[in-house]
Amino acid sequence: CGIVGIVGNKPVAGRLVDALKRLEYRGYDSAGVATIDNGVMDRRRAEGKLFNLEKRLADEPLGGNIGIAHTRWATHGVPNETNAHPHFVEGVAVVHNGIIENFAELRDELMREGAHFTTQTDTEIVAQLIAKYRRQGYDNRAAMLAMLNHVTGAYALVVMFENDPDTIMAARFGPPLAIGFGKGEMFLGSDAIALAPFTNDIVYMVDGDCAVIHHDSAEITDFSGKPVERPHQISQASA
Ligand code: GLU
Repeated sequence: CGIVGIVGNKPVAGRLVDALKRLEYRGYDSAGVATIDNGVMDRRRAEGKLFNLEKRLADEPLGGNIGIAHTRWATHGVPNETNAHPHFVEGVAVVHNGIIENFAELRDELMREGAHFTTQTDTEIVAQLIAKYRRQGYDNRAAMLAMLNHVTGAYALVVMFENDPDTIMAARFGPPLAIGFGKGEMFLGSDAIALAPFTNDIVYMVDGDCAVIHHDSAEITDFSGKPVERPHQISQASA
């Protein structure tokens, strides 16, 4: 029920969890964080409160200057560690707020093609679809857009690719998503309150927007890849 992402220039795991704490008011049943460290994508997830995730991270820390994180309020699949986000499929990591309405038919189609699903969530279809388009030769961005043109429902989505440790992609259709502009670092969050410790220079994504976030830029398009302009706003949220 809360999303955070950082394309950073210093370690992100602790900062991601701190930002998730600022989203706790939205409610959740499990949480997780993924980073890319020296080209390797890895994750820690835990059922229950963020304290449990912090314990997991204390036992087995995650390095890396890029990462995504999530607090889940389960809609499809019980709240356990397996179903906690981020979901990983073939080097693609996904966190999601909302519901993918047509996940069951898409999953059946992919399973007939031989895909192997590891969770009971509606969200996994997003990672599976992106992985499928990449196997067909699409680059990351084209695979992201192709996925967006196949899923229906309500979603804030943030996606990270193990083969591109300088980029996070995001899409919005329903649940809110804000992009924060820092100094050589960029942020994504469910709201400006989560990002307040990092920056108050915010661009709110609009329904139908896809964003490609690098260290110092955000390129926003519609789901066909056509660029769109969104205004910067100075958030009044306090850190
Ligand atoms: N529908 C997704 C799930 O159950 C996301 C729930 C959420 O918004 O946290 O895993």
